[in-house]
Amino acid sequence: MEEGNARGSKFKRVCVFCGSNFGNRQVFSDAAIELGDELVKRKIDLVYGGGSVGLMGLISQKVHEGGCHVLGVIPKALMPLEISGQTVGEVRTVVDMHERKAAMAKESDAFIALPGGYGTMEELLEMITWSQLGIHKKPSFPQTGCAS
Ligand code: AMP
Repeated sequence: MEEGNARGSKFKRVCVFCGSNFGNRQVFSDAAIELGDELVKRKIDLVYGGGSVGLMGLISQKVHEGGCHVLGVIPKALMPLEISGQTVGEVRTVVDMHERKAAMAKESDAFIALPGGYGTMEELLEMITWSQLGIHKKPSFPQTGCAS
């Protein structure tokens, strides 16, 4: 991510795509926590997939605890799968995956992908191809690894 101080960052809301699992390496969870801390330090709000499980749960808790706004966007049908216990921040339910990605893209200034599985890859590639097609002009920052 580009350098910037808390008030000077050009990104106000960043969308983070990441695994709904923790993956098999501690470094994946460490990366989610570190990114959460960094967003808070720069006073950047989080847009994410709305789940409370895996790396999604970790980063959303970090950003929420740090006092920044968290918007989770989740299809109703996925709620039993990806929400266990409490979610944090604002949860917006949508009809399907396409509406989810469209809302996440609209609400964010940039996209970051942390380690994840097929879902994370799919979401990241959709954002990159939408940029390629001129549907948006928002940058993507893949921080890859497999946490499926
Ligand atoms: P994963 O990386 O497979 O753990 O999934 C991360 C997130 O991507 C989860 O919230 C999935 O619901 C979501 N996801 C999976 N497939 C898609 C898709 N086709 N479009 C949008 N989100 C998806």
